[in-house]
Amino acid sequence: ALEVNDLHKSFGSVQVLKGMTVRARQGEFISLVGPSGCGKTTTLNIVGGFEYPDSGDVRLNGTSVVALPSYRRGLGMVFQNHALFPHMTVLDNVGFGLRMRGTPRADAVESAREALRLVRLEGFEDRYPRELSGGQQQRVGIARALAVKPKVLLMDEPLSSLDAKLRREMQVELRRIQKSVGITALYVTHDQEEALSLSDRVVLMNRGRIEQSGAPEEMYARPATRFAAGFIGESN
Ligand code: ATP
Repeated sequence: ALEVNDLHKSFGSVQVLKGMTVRARQGEFISLVGPSGCGKTTTLNIVGGFEYPDSGDVRLNGTSVVALPSYRRGLGMVFQNHALFPHMTVLDNVGFGLRMRGTPRADAVESAREALRLVRLEGFEDRYPRELSGGQQQRVGIARALAVKPKVLLMDEPLSSLDAKLRREMQVELRRIQKSVGITALYVTHDQEEALSLSDRVVLMNRGRIEQSGAPEEMYARPATRFAAGFIGESN
């Protein structure tokens, strides 16, 4: 469903991506992990259309999207600071992306309600963001991303602002939602444990390239390099 092919990207004289390639099957949950500065967010930003690669390609269902603006790529995005509009109700926040795309109000409301059911926030439609807990706000952010029925869900550290207990609850919740929609997910985290427990596949990056990629069990049991052993083993 998602193909990221041989991305190169420099900022000034710093080469941040040096041939980054990831392929995700339909419905696969992939985590990008690796040390600070290795290029995880840059990769996600290029897929999302917020950065342009120097070379390389991004394909969704076989079609190249690098020339398309972000909003035409059919992606849902969830970030650390979910950036809900404080003056809008939960329902309007979730329906906002649809309204921006010209969806009639009644249809946007229906899709927003459906997305809120998915994240188990029915009954919260008329509240304002400040009347919600951190976890609930994050679920509104997820509902907003899903409301446009994206092909791929991009997430950059979506749970890192939550406390440890809530983070674990939301990990379970996130996986449940992702599986129930059957959506392909690309997830950036600095938390190896989170990546191992959430993903179908973990992609470990090192200095703008893939160091190793595999199923969580495999990454954990058979790190291919000293770097992989050190990084995946760190949380123990
Ligand atoms: P972290 O885990 O710390 O978020 P990361 O793996 O997500 O790290 P990136 O955010 O992709 O790393 O950044 C990779 C490198 O590119 C860093 O050295 C960063 O300073 C640099 N960088 C990112 N965006 C820009 C930019 N717009 N201009 C200049 N340098 C940038």
